[in-house]
Amino acid sequence: MRRQPAAKACVHAHPPHATAFAIANVDIPYCLIPEAEVFLGKIGVAKYRTPGTPANADEVGEVGKEHQAVLMENHGVIVWGKDVEDAYWKMENIDSYCRTIWIATGLGGGCTGSPAARRRSSSISARNSHARSARRPEGVRTLRQR
Ligand SMILES: [Zn+2]
Repeated sequence: MRRQPAAKACVHAHPPHATAFAIANVDIPYCLIPEAEVFLGKIGVAKYRTPGTPANADEVGEVGKEHQAVLMENHGVIVWGKDVEDAYWKMENIDSYCRTIWIATGLGGGCTGSPAARRRSSSISARNSHARSARRPEGVRTLRQR
């Protein structure tokens, strides 16, 4: 995370709900809950590299330049923040967000968000971009597109 000057602390974990998305090769949806967009931004995806290797650090470092929360394929999550408490809080948020999506999906309503919700969320996210240290990412990338 040295490539992102705003990253002062990192937390890495394997929270079950977020890690499930990484294992299932499913994108974490965007534009569903405003708070997730405001505090996490779009969640990046790092390709699988053997954990603990320089190749893994390189991949995560590149993705972490654009995303403060990074899902590592078939591994877990790493987040960065202004301090360790901020990073820890983001880790808690990403797993809570993924758990909420999982529950909502189980209700059968789908998790695509309405166009109005996506516009509202994008507007909130743009207004609160100062809440995140990372630059707002462009475009939507899916695990399957990598
Ligand atoms: Zn790990």
